[in-house]
This record gives sequence, structure tokens and C-alpha cells, in this order.
Amino acid sequence: MENYRPETICVQGGYTPGNGEPRQIPIVQSTTFKYATSADMGKLFDLEASGYFYSRLQNPTCDYVAAKIAALEGGTAAMLTSSGQAANFLALFNIASCGDHIVSSASIYGGTFNLLSVTMAKMGIEVTFVSPDCAPQELDAAFRPNTKAVFGETIANPALTVLDIEKFAAAAHAHGVPLVVDNTFPTPVGCRPIQWGADIVTHSTTKYMDGHGVAVGGAIVDAGRFDWMAHAHKFPGLCTPDESYHGITYAEKFGREGAFITKCTAQLMRDFGCTQSPQSAFYLNLGLESLHVRMQRHCENGQAVAEFLHSHPKVEAVHYCGLPSDPYHALAEKYLPNGSCGVVSFELKGGRPAAEAFMGRLRLAAIETHVADARTCCLNPATSTHRQMTEQQLAEAGIPAGLVRMSCGLESKEELIADIQQALEAV
Ligand SMILES: *Cc1c(COP(=O)(O)O)cnc(C)c1O
Repeated sequence: MENYRPETICVQGGYTPGNGEPRQIPIVQSTTFKYATSADMGKLFDLEASGYFYSRLQNPTCDYVAAKIAALEGGTAAMLTSSGQAANFLALFNIASCGDHIVSSASIYGGTFNLLSVTMAKMGIEVTFVSPDCAPQELDAAFRPNTKAVFGETIANPALTVLDIEKFAAAAHAHGVPLVVDNTFPTPVGCRPIQWGADIVTHSTTKYMDGHGVAVGGAIVDAGRFDWMAHAHKFPGLCTPDESYHGITYAEKFGREGAFITKCTAQLMRDFGCTQSPQSAFYLNLGLESLHVRMQRHCENGQAVAEFLHSHPKVEAVHYCGLPSDPYHALAEKYLPNGSCGVVSFELKGGRPAAEAFMGRLRLAAIETHVADARTCCLNPATSTHRQMTEQQLAEAGIPAGLVRMSCGLESKEELIADIQQALEAV
């Protein structure tokens, strides 16, 4: 399947039924799996044989769907997690532990910013945030001898900045560490970060991959390229024996293709248990089957709405990399030639009261804490997610009080624009 185009992998990747087997991925709703002898089971626990024994670690339904996502991203192995938050945490904690350091783009999802700057700091992992637009020398200067990974988002939520993946990959590799890229917003239909040098790709599958607002989930994909053994002193977790797994050395036993995901499953999923349910994985797969068709429409609607807003006199500014006037347009042309996503951020003249009045008048677009859904939704960070901040704090965080983040769904673009137009008239 890896050699097929994304459209074909979306529909058929990950699962190939044998004679007389279900055409659709079966939901294996079972916590455990039966074996004839204790010796058979023992081999699984020693990672001497592969197979299922307990759904906290692995389940066939989840593995079929993970295999589809691995093929879509062009990776060698993947795993599902209970959420996007769990995916980013496990991906980074798999290589960084107490006393280590991470370099991250400052333009990232608020939940991930909190995970890195507060929760992982409590675990003794330090983070240096850099502007996604920083010069290569500035990026280089952020590294320390104990740096273990570089992190960024292809298209950041909600700032909608575009990551220069090649610039970040070059810096990471010059310092002997992998680049981890959260590819939630473009999905592999819009961009495959591995093609540009990323080593690990993460997803909140809750967003476009699911696309219908039905199941929270996440995924981690390994490009299978990073040479852990060449930097063995930096990655003892992968390159020295794991005493909690009978002395297995992951990088030796599973090679570049399998070490990262095997360790992340056998060790971190075993211990943290943030697994995705087979039922959720089934829903996720239904979303993936139409991802390529839906992304095209989300991008088309996002572009049309951004262009309309850009020309409207009551709109102060529009952030959307598909607009030629956007500072990220050039990067978008390189990394996102087929379109970016359906999320558009814009500022209304008249600040917070104008944003509130505008949103209150919308008929199709609902006010929700969500993005990347089939149904158009919007949010004013100043009165919702960032409500506790003062006007001054909002300004410092780069979030104007009148900012509206609108996630364009799959409705008619003419009717979405008409809805926005009538709401703007009321402001
Ligand atoms: C939503 C989101 C997350 C967190 O994902 P959950 O599934 O909500 O845990 C992480 N990264 C990005 C870019 C997101 O948009």
C-alpha cells in the first residue's frame, strides 16, 4: 500500500482482508487474547514473538488504523493514542526524560504549550521556545548538550503560522536529534512532513482525520530513518538494555524502522495506558476513508471565506496562508501546494464587542471549542479559551481581543459567506 497515492491509501490502506474475512475493519472488542500454553504467552512478554495479549498495549483494530496512518505519512510504524495530547506527550517522553531539554517552536497549540512549559517542566524536562520565523543562527543557539528533540506544528493552531520544516529538520539533525512535527491541521493529504525531513509525526486525530466530531484520539508515526545508535549516548532509553523488558535494546533488536514505536508501545503505553478504544479507532477509520475528499472541500471553503473577509471593510486583518498577502504564503506554496486547511483567523474592527456581536448573529457557524469538523464553528479566544487574560495580557500573547477563529466546514461556501456577510452587517 505504501506506494499508492494518499487517496487510495485513505480508502484501502492498513487492512487487507483474506478470503471470507470482513470487508470493513472489524472492531475487536476484547480486552484480552487467548493462548494455548504459557510458553506461547511468555514469548510475547519477552517481545520474542509479535501478537496480542492485552488491549492496553495493542489491539488489532487500532493497529489496522495505525498502519493506514503510517502509510499515509510515509512512515515505517505508527500507534494510536487516546488523544492528541497523549500523542505529543508520549512522542517526546519516549526520547526525553528528567534532566533533558527540548527546543520547540513558540507557535503551537495552547494545550501542547502547557504540556511542555508546565507539566513536563515538573518532570524535569526543560523547553526553549523559539519563534518559527527565527534565523538559523538563533535556532542553532537554542540547543544544549542535553537537547533531545525539536518540536513544531506544520500549521499552528490557532496562530496559523507555517513551519519551515526543512529549516527545523536541518538544525535538529546538525545537533544529532530528531524533529517531531505535529501535522494535525494539514493532515498527510496536505503535507507529509517526513518528505521534508521530519523524523516523528504526531496527530490529534480528533480534528480532520475524524472530521465529524465523534471521537477524541491521537497518533504517532515514525519515519524509521533516525539513526539512534549513531547518537547512542543521547538516547539511552533506545540504545541500552531495558531492564523492564528483560534487557532488550530496542534500537538493536527492532532497528531504525521499529525501535521508536516498539519502545513507545511496550514501555510507555504499558505504563501510562493512554490507549485508544477499538470503537474509536473504527470511527477514526471511517473519517480517514473520506479524508482526501473532505480536505479538498475544507480548503476550498477556507480559501473562499478568507478572500471574502480580506475584502470586507469591517475586517481589520485575516490570517490564512492561502492569501497571497499572508506572511506565510511562500512557505505554504512550498509545503502545502494543495491547500492548507479550513481554519481562518480574523480580526474585526471594533475589538471584543464587535466579535461578540458578530458571532451572536451567525446562523450556520456555531460557537464551539472545536476545529476541523464537518460543521462550521467559531470561537473568540478573548471571551472563551483566553477569557482570564486582561486586555494587556491578550496583546502580549499576540491574541487581539477581536480575533475570531473560524473553522470552515463542508457546507456550501456561498451560504457560509452569506451567513458571515449578514452577521457582519449587524456589527
Ligand atoms: C487539538 C490539538 C491537539 C490536542 O489534541 P486532543 O485530541 O484535543 O488531545 C494537539 N495539537 C494540535 C495542533 C491540535 O489542534
